[in-house]
Amino acid sequence: MSPRDKTASRDSRSSTKTARKSTVLDIGRPVTAAASKPRPATHLNVEAPTIAKPRITPGKNTKSVFIKTYGCQMNVYDSERMADVLAPIGYAAVDKPDDADLVILNTCHIREKAAEKVYSELGRIRQHKERNKPDMKVAVAGCVAQAEGAEIKRRAPVVDMVLGPQTYHKLPEMIARVSRETGDVLETEFDTIEKFDALPAGRQAKGYSAFLTVQEGCDKFCTFCVVPYTRGAEVSRPVEQIVAEARSLASQGVREITLIGQNVDAYHADGPDGAEWGLGELIRHVAKIGGIDRLRFTTSHPRDMDDGLIETLSTEPKLMPYLHLPIQAGSDRVLHAMNRGHSYAHYRDLIAKVRAARPDIALSGDFIVGFPGETDEDFEATMNCVREIGYASSFSFKYSTRPGTPGATLPHQVPEAVKSERLKRLQDLLYTQQREWNESLIGKTLDVLVEGHAKEPGRLFGRSPYLTGTHFDGPDDLIGQIVPVTITSAGVNSLVGALV
Ligand code: SF4
Repeated sequence: MSPRDKTASRDSRSSTKTARKSTVLDIGRPVTAAASKPRPATHLNVEAPTIAKPRITPGKNTKSVFIKTYGCQMNVYDSERMADVLAPIGYAAVDKPDDADLVILNTCHIREKAAEKVYSELGRIRQHKERNKPDMKVAVAGCVAQAEGAEIKRRAPVVDMVLGPQTYHKLPEMIARVSRETGDVLETEFDTIEKFDALPAGRQAKGYSAFLTVQEGCDKFCTFCVVPYTRGAEVSRPVEQIVAEARSLASQGVREITLIGQNVDAYHADGPDGAEWGLGELIRHVAKIGGIDRLRFTTSHPRDMDDGLIETLSTEPKLMPYLHLPIQAGSDRVLHAMNRGHSYAHYRDLIAKVRAARPDIALSGDFIVGFPGETDEDFEATMNCVREIGYASSFSFKYSTRPGTPGATLPHQVPEAVKSERLKRLQDLLYTQQREWNESLIGKTLDVLVEGHAKEPGRLFGRSPYLTGTHFDGPDDLIGQIVPVTITSAGVNSLVGALV
């Protein structure tokens, strides 16, 4: 057993059981149009929508809201906060749109044809509303709302409200305006601080693992990405606000918190000691909160990952040995065209430092193949990067244009067939590495945070320190606990084990 294994194991003995069941927002596995193989079991998903499940059964005097979430963990967090904003005005979350008084599509703009997918979903909602629920209200939130703005209401008159990611705190006011049939129902401002100031201080936890947004927006302007246009500039939340939210989650039984941000490593704010704090200081501070046994952070950027944060990986035992550090491409020429602001050598050096600080780290990466102008030689550089670094999990996609981004107008777009062939080769390599990583855990005892039931009767499901989904037999009263599980078999996406 490694020193890290011992550290992880000791949590289980101090576990406190809570009565609540597992999470109500489960982010599925990543899916891409080109992916023909199983994808990594991970919390990051940019395609498959998730549904906010009911928190309470709507009573006689309550209304119901159905929230469908597309995209990354930032959207999952935002959907939870929208539910928090709506609860005081009588809206209970339901898991089907059928009888909902309010339907919210919390959209993502990261994948191809995102807006078109939203419009076809709105077509289905319109039919349902006309046939069955004429008084239903419909809102479009998230990055497609921000990007499309008033165009959404023009193309889909069924939509009553359009709200960008920084305006969710205005939902009650917008609903009132819609109900009175007066005023503007388009909110796409960019005031992140106002949003967080105005969101309810209390937050209803759902399960034992929670996302907590500490930073939003991006100043990097990668030439393939819409996020800087839809989420705005980088903004960090104040330390005390984050700590209050983390305490509230801990008091409700949450054991694991993932600090999230579009560029979470860019976090910086005034600390209680008067000094400027980065993510490392914030992590160490949040780690002091009683009841929180595990911390994670995502998504990192190679430009912002500093020595202080790397040192925290080695010194903070509550920080789990998992790092998602996207590189996108292994060729410096392509990295430059992508405006990533770092070279492959810089990335490789960072990984070396991370591994020196935390030898058992499970590395995860993002890759884009077929960026405009990518040659066979450039692609081979990406393959070499994967061979050299070695990944425990990954996300890989074919490049597709995003209207309004510089990449969309670059010459030398790569033919679709070439992109598909490169993606297949890359994924063959990545999934082989992923399987080998998982198989290397067979025989080890890992601490698993039990999130709920597995699909198989009598089985439980949880997450290892490496974020891998882990299945094992055990009684229901382990749900919410961190328990030692000896791994007996491994697949590409998950582990199977036996309770110790
Ligand atoms: S760093 Fe690049 S890929 Fe990441 S959110 Fe910013 S612009 Fe998009």
